[in-house]
Amino acid sequence: MTVVIVGGGVAGGNAAATLRDEGYDGPLLILADEPGVPFGRPPLSKTYLRGEEDLSGWFVRKPGWYREREIELRTDDPVVKVDAAGRRVTTRKGESVAFDRLLIASGVRNRGLPVRGADLDGVLSLRTKADCDRIRAAAQPGDRVVLAGMGFIGSEVAASLTQMGVHVTAVFPGTAPLARVLGDEVAAALARVHREHGVELLAGDGVQRFEGSSRIEAVTTTSGLRLECTMAVVAVGVQPNTEFLANSGVAVDNGVLVDELCATNVPGIFACGDVANMAHPLFGRLRVEHYNNAEKQAAAAARSMLSKGAPYDYTFSFWSDQYEQTLEYVGIAHSWERFVVRGRPEVGPFLGFYLEGGALRAAVGLGRGGDPEAESGSELAACRRLIESRAAVDISALSDEKVDLWELVGSLSAG
Ligand SMILES: Cc1cc2nc3c(=O)[nH]c(=O)nc-3n(C[C@H](O)[C@H](O)[C@H](O)COP(=O)(O)OP(=O)(O)OC[C@H]3O[C@@H](n4cnc5c(N)ncnc54)[C@H](O)[C@@H]3O)c2cc1C
Repeated sequence: MTVVIVGGGVAGGNAAATLRDEGYDGPLLILADEPGVPFGRPPLSKTYLRGEEDLSGWFVRKPGWYREREIELRTDDPVVKVDAAGRRVTTRKGESVAFDRLLIASGVRNRGLPVRGADLDGVLSLRTKADCDRIRAAAQPGDRVVLAGMGFIGSEVAASLTQMGVHVTAVFPGTAPLARVLGDEVAAALARVHREHGVELLAGDGVQRFEGSSRIEAVTTTSGLRLECTMAVVAVGVQPNTEFLANSGVAVDNGVLVDELCATNVPGIFACGDVANMAHPLFGRLRVEHYNNAEKQAAAAARSMLSKGAPYDYTFSFWSDQYEQTLEYVGIAHSWERFVVRGRPEVGPFLGFYLEGGALRAAVGLGRGGDPEAESGSELAACRRLIESRAAVDISALSDEKVDLWELVGSLSAG
């Protein structure tokens, strides 16, 4: 059997590692289009961008490991076509590679802004190490930078550039950073943190055009403001990398559609990570763009490829670092009926709980809550257990500091 993995990101790398750990010792090929070994991107908007660490601590496996484990890692040669019936992929360099099992781990890429001047020098975005190196080289203390978009990447870049002495003006839709994802209360707390650090937040505004002769000099916003700047960073969302699957027969709809075993509609072809639009037993159909999922779903997909799979039912979690604050989140709630807090978001660390039908669907902690992946102890690990139970929870107990969240977990098992 030959296994081919499309994509050398954290999902592709972890899938290869799991295949070998699970005893698969046949031909294994990773076809990638970024240089270097698979690594985690989180430091690109944080420590690596600020020059505080290199990426070696984020390698999925050390560079020599791939050769040692007889894994062929071909970089700079992306897959351009999949022939599902003929069991072959074609690469950009024109090679035709046969497979018995194929794993699609091609991730996502940044969306651009379809406005005038978007191709000027100094209009940048962040996904790869090369992107990050460009932003880092262009950001000098005292510079003025306009950030378009205040999702997770935008918010983290705003924080890092500010910490590097750059003046940041952020232009974004909505009322506050991440309001659509996290709700108004959490977004207001994040907005306060950014403002306290000196970021100018232009909520409810957008980029109308970038101005400059060859290099960016200013951004004109839809509300008519002219913001002089030396660089603009566009962080307005992503789209899944699926074009190479056109006419392959693999079903695609906002990512590659997979079932609970990470299997596509074509036998022998699987998908995982940011590109996978999965059927999840608790959260329904969704695509998740977070590191922990990419790592864990890759392992699940690898086991499925070896016919050792189990339904992938991971209770998602992710984190975001902005200044000295860490935001931790567990579960997923795209909408919710009730949101209650423990602590005071206006002044300090707090937990937020997203409820639907009386049950906890997700929880967030800003500067509080600990690691949701911990087996026990942390408040967010208790939340994870409450989410997994799907049981109705006592809302007043969630917001009551005197009630230990682990007591609620205990009362579930007692009941
Ligand atoms: C700057 C930044 C910071 C982040 N910080 C956090 C964080 O703090 N917390 C968190 O939870 N998540 C974070 N994330 C998200 C996390 O990095 C992603 O969820 C994760 O990278 C997904 O891994 P992946 O392997 O599925 O996709 P990717 O990392 O996108 O890797 C896919 C790879 O496949 C390649 N590829 C695409 N098409 C082809 C093709 N046709 N042939 C071959 N190769 C192809 C791509 O170039 C890429 O190298 C961050 C992301 C970024 C960009």
